[in-house]
Amino acid sequence: MIGILGGTFDPIHFGHLRPALDCLQALGLDEIRLVPLNVAVHRAPPVAPSAQRLAMLEAAIVGQPGFVADAREIERPGGSYTYDTLVSLRAELGRERPLCLLIGADAFAGFLDWHRPADILDLAHLVVMRRPGASDALDPALQAFCAGRIRDRAGDLAETPAGRILFQDVTQIDVSATRVRELIRQDLSPRWLLPDAVISIIAAEGLYR
Ligand code: ATP
Repeated sequence: MIGILGGTFDPIHFGHLRPALDCLQALGLDEIRLVPLNVAVHRAPPVAPSAQRLAMLEAAIVGQPGFVADAREIERPGGSYTYDTLVSLRAELGRERPLCLLIGADAFAGFLDWHRPADILDLAHLVVMRRPGASDALDPALQAFCAGRIRDRAGDLAETPAGRILFQDVTQIDVSATRVRELIRQDLSPRWLLPDAVISIIAAEGLYR
């Protein structure tokens, strides 16, 4: 099984990295593709340019087996739709291999507003990671969408290429990229919220000031 974690990664921080590692280990994933978006479609545009967000991501995962930086959204012009990314991953990996789209609970709350949510489930499983400050309760429309798809064992995802939803407990790390950017803007240290290698790039490039 292959995991996919998309995000702005503006910058990548321990709230991305540790929950991703938890999923890698708990679900027995072969690898996790970390996919920085190019042009945001559900949120405000990123602050740092794509090339620097990718460089920070690559620096963050050096030496971590199973973590792979995947630049396909950055290389694709126009809005970064997860649906398109999954179509492209399926073209590379084939139709049979289970794909698990990892998504934080805050992002999952808005999932039905994404481009082609039902088609996304035809291409991949969803693994929803609990996140500090995000409610576990689902609104009625999302509950209806999830009905019949929810499973509680990683093995249930390995059985089939796509279509199932798993709620995964991960280490609760109360950090957001917004908070990291705000600390830097105020000239306060963001240390121990994200890797030192990422902080070095931020300092060298003068990002988020
Ligand atoms: P921002 O503060 O700029 O909105 P962010 O910290 O939420 O950014 P993103 O790059 O937008 O980071 O997040 C990518 C994915 O990682 C999303 O699915 C998001 O829900 C998840 N995620 C981000 N931070 C955490 C965290 N602390 N715990 C669990 N999941 C997280």
